[in-house]
Amino acid sequence: MKDMAEKRDYYEVLGVQKNASADEIKKAYKKLAIKYHPDRNPDNKEAEEKFKEAAEAYDVLHDPDKRARYDQFGHAGMGGAGGFGGQSFDMNDIFSMFGDIFGGHMGGGFGGFSGFGGGGRGRSQQRHQGSDLRLKVKLTLEEVAKGTTKKFKVRKDVTCTHCKGSGSQDSKTETCGTCHGTGYVTRNVNTMFGHMQQQSVCNVCGGTGSTIKNKCTHCGGTGVINGEEVIEVQIPAGIQDGMILTVQGKGNAGHNNGYAGDIQVYVEVEPHNELSRRDNDLVYNLLLDMPTAVLGGPVEIPTIDGRVKIKIEPGTQPGKTVRLRGKGLPALQGYGYGYGDLIVNISVYIPETLTKEEHDAFEKMRDSDSFKPSPTTKNTFFQKFKNLFS
Ligand SMILES: [Zn+2]
Ligand SMILES: [Zn+2]
Repeated sequence: MKDMAEKRDYYEVLGVQKNASADEIKKAYKKLAIKYHPDRNPDNKEAEEKFKEAAEAYDVLHDPDKRARYDQFGHAGMGGAGGFGGQSFDMNDIFSMFGDIFGGHMGGGFGGFSGFGGGGRGRSQQRHQGSDLRLKVKLTLEEVAKGTTKKFKVRKDVTCTHCKGSGSQDSKTETCGTCHGTGYVTRNVNTMFGHMQQQSVCNVCGGTGSTIKNKCTHCGGTGVINGEEVIEVQIPAGIQDGMILTVQGKGNAGHNNGYAGDIQVYVEVEPHNELSRRDNDLVYNLLLDMPTAVLGGPVEIPTIDGRVKIKIEPGTQPGKTVRLRGKGLPALQGYGYGYGDLIVNISVYIPETLTKEEHDAFEKMRDSDSFKPSPTTKNTFFQKFKNLFS
């Protein structure tokens, strides 16, 4: 693999301007891909390099996110997840990219090309890769606060114990009748370059050149049988509704000892009776009785760790918010630090029916100055101001 410093500018590789449109980039790449395509340039190392270089440039520039990163940081921005970094660019990736660029009708022409370069690693393994499974997990807000481990009994394809996944009754193999042991088949195909021969991995033996002589009677030669497994899924604290956790290698077993698929765990957080969630903060709507709002006093409220008492100040107005720092949910690792707050929104319950005595008591208070709405009375600053000019 070339050093990062030696890499040519992606725009230069495709021969387009920095401000080229998506369409121009696609056209430029298409032109180069046809020119340097290995079908057209057999045993030409230089063409192969150019072909790969163009594919790599296209892969970055046709993706708006990658392109923005590249524009900002150059090749250095392409390392790590989603970038190329120092990793080699697999030919299978390039050919799988053709689907979207040349459209479905060209797929066949380029499709079975995995024998090239990388020795068909990707394609032949894909054939044996087990499929992914999906699970849904329902969590309470309490479980979200602490994180938890969930166990599932999963019905899935498991490795056949009888043949240990080989699919063979007696470990005897014979030469593949389709490719005669070479692992590759040559087909005559019509491509956009005309009639030509194309080599691809034999899909009967998956490129191994040999097939099972006597198939395992338990699994019929596939190496997998129906079974079940108890899967433990670690749920990190702070996880959010709608997130997907991937448990790698726990999906369906791959045929003939191929790689197992993954399990995708869809997270659903059930609504809480009293608390609602706003990112990492929790919100509680407290409906105060009138005497406590007027006179103040202790009130019990729910938190994620149980009920606590908070002190209500005398003369608390409806609409007041009290914030209990750190009483919210923990931030999901990698998405933030520490804990959110518990926000208490206060409103006041006004009685709808009164006894005769209560009614009379309110009637008496109706004309009292203390009951006249006056938002500034309590505010000493405005009070002083008012006094100054009165
Ligand atoms: Zn078997
Ligand atoms: Zn074969």
